[in-house]
Amino acid sequence: MKIMVAVKRVIDYAVKIRVKADKSGVETTNVKMAMNPFCEIALEEALRLREAGHAKEVLVVSMGGPQCADTLRTGLAMGADRAIHVSTTETLYPLAVAKLLCGLAESEKPNMVLLGKQAIDDDANQTGQMVAGLLKWPQGTFASKLSMEKGSSSVTVEREVDGGLESLKLQLPAVITADLRLNQPRYATLPNIMKAKKKPISQVTPEQLGVKISSDLEIVEVVEPAKRKAGVMVASVDELLDKLKNEAHVI
Ligand code: AMP
Repeated sequence: MKIMVAVKRVIDYAVKIRVKADKSGVETTNVKMAMNPFCEIALEEALRLREAGHAKEVLVVSMGGPQCADTLRTGLAMGADRAIHVSTTETLYPLAVAKLLCGLAESEKPNMVLLGKQAIDDDANQTGQMVAGLLKWPQGTFASKLSMEKGSSSVTVEREVDGGLESLKLQLPAVITADLRLNQPRYATLPNIMKAKKKPISQVTPEQLGVKISSDLEIVEVVEPAKRKAGVMVASVDELLDKLKNEAHVI
């Protein structure tokens, strides 16, 4: 089995986001970037499936500008076998990414496409669902556990839903998106970082995949959330009740 994992380069989760002065987006120059945490989890799961003997090859793919190669290199250092960079400097919205992933799935013919449940920059939570829709493959979103029988052509996905845990049996090929509790991703070790330098990263363009990156979406303005007002200390429960009743009008 071949597994294709989509990994996105995003602003590191620990960085304090600053909005650009012209409100066109967020500042990314001189800002630490990293692999989207949910993509790390997706990749970790693919590596575990390979280590358990269910998969032969793990392919990492990323779409965007030249620096995506760094993110792919991190994926290779974590243990992926090879990488494909879909190179474009255009702004990518989830539908365009989904079409590109579809194009790659048609040429690479993976048995499973693994994605993060969402990217922490746009919080769109759309790409995996769109890929499954476009490919007409079954989907298991927000996976918190994956299990496979040896040699089986299906995978069982456990998902955390409001009422508890839901188990879905998906016929392969399938699209799966990783939730936080699926696993704890590994760190790339120094020897593996060195080895990753020799692993191949091939490049394709959206045109080569036959995908037009156009969107009906336009970002009108990006602004910071309003600053929260400082709280007040109350001296007693009676005072708190009085404020909730007469000032906040919530009881
Ligand atoms: P989103 O729908 O934007 O929240 O992203 C969900 C998932 O789609 C991410 O966790 C990635 O696995 C994948 N994805 C989105 N954008 C990209 C990209 N530019 N390159 C690679 N994968 C992406």
